[in-house]
Amino acid sequence: MMEITSVQGDITEQAVDAVVNAANSSLLGGGGVDGAIHRKGGPEILAACRALRASHYGKGLATGRAVATTAGRLPARWVIHTVGPRYAAGEPGRAELLASCYRESLRVADELGARTVAVPAVSTGIYGWPVRDAARIALRTVQEVALGTESQVVEVRFVLFGGEAFEVFESVRRELG
Ligand code: ADP
Repeated sequence: MMEITSVQGDITEQAVDAVVNAANSSLLGGGGVDGAIHRKGGPEILAACRALRASHYGKGLATGRAVATTAGRLPARWVIHTVGPRYAAGEPGRAELLASCYRESLRVADELGARTVAVPAVSTGIYGWPVRDAARIALRTVQEVALGTESQVVEVRFVLFGGEAFEVFESVRRELG
């Protein structure tokens, strides 16, 4: 049984097996949640990202994909880096890419043997996605994964940074039932 929960807080402080990072395709760090994860997790994460770039992802990680590294000094054991799409109104294909971020991240989490996973609101910061729309896509996708697969993951915890984003997520959760 996969339970979906949500909290207001900082994803770098979550005591879970894996935290999902809203990375960019370079995997070499950025702002927002990415910056916070690298700052708190320390240089080990960046070193692992550089190694991934050198070995498998010479051109970077494609949008909608996910890949794991160590979590360095974070309480979590792994960071799962995923690349969200930038928001562009009127381009419906982008919603599928955002959904893919959650599906792929949870697939990687299951492969790792993670049981608890914290996820941020991918693409809702620098990439400009309206929170309510992103929350619908995120929650629907995770609900589908929870129903449709045999995963070892028992908790997917949405971690919303601000009170406003948290309220929006809660209201979308009620709406989706
Ligand atoms: P993106 O480039 O995918 O938009 P951002 O990191 O800019 O990624 O933003 C994604 C979401 O993560 C935003 O809602 C932002 O407020 C939130 N965020 C930023 N820092 C943290 C953090 N430490 N923990 C959880 N969420 C965070």
